[in-house]
Amino acid sequence: MSNRNNGNESASTIPAGDFSAWFHGTEASLQSGNSGADVPCGACRGCCRSSMFIHIKPEETQTLRRIPRTLLFPAPGRPKGHVLMGYNDKGHCPMLIDNQCSIYEDRPQTCRGYDCRIFTATGISVDQQTQPEIAQRVKEWVFNFESKESREEDRILKDAAAFLELNRELFPPWSIPNNPVQLAVLAVKIYRLFSDLTAQRRQDASGLSDAAIADAILTALSEPG
Ligand code: SF4
Ligand code: SF4
Repeated sequence: MSNRNNGNESASTIPAGDFSAWFHGTEASLQSGNSGADVPCGACRGCCRSSMFIHIKPEETQTLRRIPRTLLFPAPGRPKGHVLMGYNDKGHCPMLIDNQCSIYEDRPQTCRGYDCRIFTATGISVDQQTQPEIAQRVKEWVFNFESKESREEDRILKDAAAFLELNRELFPPWSIPNNPVQLAVLAVKIYRLFSDLTAQRRQDASGLSDAAIADAILTALSEPG
């Protein structure tokens, strides 16, 4: 199934803020590793009710103190001490009580960094069947564009995400995530390189193939830092 967001207009809309401000802030927090999105969620609790496993790092000691050990299990493929918190039979996080996060001030970094506007921005779809509340919210967000440059950033980011998704066969199987969040994050991370390469392709009469662009992305991803 394609992860592409078909861009259908939703009946209701919710302001997502200025696109460039959002994009530059997201890029900076991904580069620094300091997650902490200020999402105008309002009454939405979509990501607390969407059958998600929440990753918690060993250094998140205050968070770990607040969550019963029985709700945590070792995170597969991560170093010792990294854990996941699952969800109940309704797909809700067990820390969600009366539709409020019961550990809000000590919630995991994963929750602090989650920003579903990344799907609207990249055009990557959320699975309507398994995560209907998030999918609905993603359709409702509307960014505003204060300049021509802002619209251009939006276009390039969506093109970068589409390039990754539609050219998977040009990359080794492990390198392009299937998980929509990870795919959207990757699109933000490769944005600058993708923008430069596609600009070069437009100027270069000989043309730069999709395979060459994929190679350059792969090389950049394998470099430390
Ligand atoms: S789904 Fe989006 S809007 Fe809803 S709570 Fe999560 S981040 Fe906020
Ligand atoms: S810990 Fe809190 S913010 Fe995170 S998913 Fe659970 S209820 Fe939501």
